[in-house]
Amino acid sequence: MTIQESIERIIDAEKIEAAKEIIGRCNKIVVCTHMSPDGDAVGSALSVANYLRKKGKEVQVVFSDTPGENLNFIPGLRDELVFDTQNQPGVRNTREESLKAIREAECFVITDLNVPSRMGDMHKDVMKNPAPKILIDHHLEPEADSFDVVISHPEASAASELIYTFMLQMGDDSLLDRQIATQIYCGMMTDTGQFIFGSSRPQVYLIVARLLQEGFEKEKLHRDLVLEPERRTRLKGYVLQQKLQIVSDCKAAYFSLNKAELKRFNHQKGDSEGFVNMPLDIIGIQVSAFFREEKNFVKVSLRSKGDFPVNLLAQKFYNGGGHKNAAGGEFLGNLQQAEQLFVKALPLFANYLEK
Ligand code: 5GP
Ligand code: MN
Repeated sequence: MTIQESIERIIDAEKIEAAKEIIGRCNKIVVCTHMSPDGDAVGSALSVANYLRKKGKEVQVVFSDTPGENLNFIPGLRDELVFDTQNQPGVRNTREESLKAIREAECFVITDLNVPSRMGDMHKDVMKNPAPKILIDHHLEPEADSFDVVISHPEASAASELIYTFMLQMGDDSLLDRQIATQIYCGMMTDTGQFIFGSSRPQVYLIVARLLQEGFEKEKLHRDLVLEPERRTRLKGYVLQQKLQIVSDCKAAYFSLNKAELKRFNHQKGDSEGFVNMPLDIIGIQVSAFFREEKNFVKVSLRSKGDFPVNLLAQKFYNGGGHKNAAGGEFLGNLQQAEQLFVKALPLFANYLEK
C-alpha cells in the first residue's frame, strides 16, 4: 500500500465534486487568505495556488497585507500580490493589480479563515464579485452562507494539511512537487508550533510522510523558522524582564508593548509574533495575553493551555475570536484599558482553570 492510499479522505465527496465542477470551468482564479498572514495562511495559499497552476489555471494569490519577514523562507512568497502594502519600504504597491485580479476572478479559493471579514479590507471587493467561492479551512463555525463550497475541518492541524487532502481527493496527488510539499509543510509546521499543538492525529504524520517523499530539506525549514534578527531577540528579553505581569490567582500572565517601545526596538511586522506563547512555559501559568498598541486600536493575542477557552474571551471582550487555545482580537481603546479588562474578565472564566 502506498502512503497516499493510507491517508483518510476526510473531505465529503459532494464537496470535492462541487469544487471540481467550479474549478473545471474557471480559468482565472484568485486565492485569498486572512489578514496579517501567518505561516499557515501563506503555506495554504501558495500551495493551493501552485497546485491550480499545475492544472493549467491562471492563478493569483492576493494577500490583504504583507506577510512578516520571518516568513520569507517559505518559497515563492514574494512573487504574489498584496492588496494593502501600507506603503512599506521595499514592498511594491500592488493595490491596482490586486483589485484588477479580484474583479476579474472567475472563482476564489479562500484558505485559513472562517468569516470573510478576516480577509481584511479586501473582503468587500472579494464579496462584491459574485464568482463562486471555495473555502478550505480549519477554524470552528465557518460562516457557511458566504461561500459556495465549505470545506471546513477543525480537526485538521492546519489549513495547509487540508490542501494536501484536497489535492489527493481531487485525484491530483501526482501534481504534488517539492515546492508545493514545502509550502504545505511550512503551514503545518508553523500552525502546530513545530508539531506540538493540534497535531495528535496519526493522519498528520501520514501526510508529512507523503510530503517528505518530494525531498525537501525538513531540518533547514525548522532552523529557518526560528532564525530571528537581533532586534527581536532584544525585544524578547525586554518583554520578559521588564514587562511581564503575573495574575497568580487566575494562573494568568500578560504584557503589552506601546508605540514608543515598538519604535525603540525598531519593531517590524512579525517581530513579536509568538511572544504570547512564552508565559505559558512558566510553572502554574495557564493563560497568556499580549497587547500591542496599533494606530487606531490595540491588537490582542491570547493563548491558553487545557480547557481555558480564550476564543470566548476574545469574542466577548475584544471583538475577536479564534481557537480554544489561540485567539485574538482588536480592542478599540487604549492599552491600559485593554489590560485592565483582561484582569477583570479572568475571574469570569475561573471554572476553566486547572485545580
Ligand atoms: P494571533 O494571536 O496569532 O494573532 O491569532 C491567533 C488566532 O486568533 C488566529 O489564528 C485567529 O484564529 C484568531 N484571531 C486573531 N486575531 C483575530 C481577530 O481580530 N478576529 C478574529 N475573529 N480572530 C482573530
Ligand atoms: Mn491556520
